[in-house]
Amino acid sequence: MPIFSYECTDCSTAFQTLVRSGDVPVCPSCGGAHLDQQLSLVADPAKGAEGAGQSMTCSGEPGPGCGMCPGMAA
Ligand SMILES: [Zn+2]
Repeated sequence: MPIFSYECTDCSTAFQTLVRSGDVPVCPSCGGAHLDQQLSLVADPAKGAEGAGQSMTCSGEPGPGCGMCPGMAA
């Protein structure tokens, strides 16, 4: 379950919240939805693979350099 950190751009409150797909987080202080997303505490597999460079996690996309995945090595 991804935990994201946000900072409210309306009242500058920083908070962390679980965000399920389809949920739109709001500020717990003012209820505003103008939020800047900060670094997530739990790596998002979809985005984390890019930032981590040569990680052990397959991005799910076949491509050059990926020799870790059975069936993609060839
Ligand atoms: Zn706020």
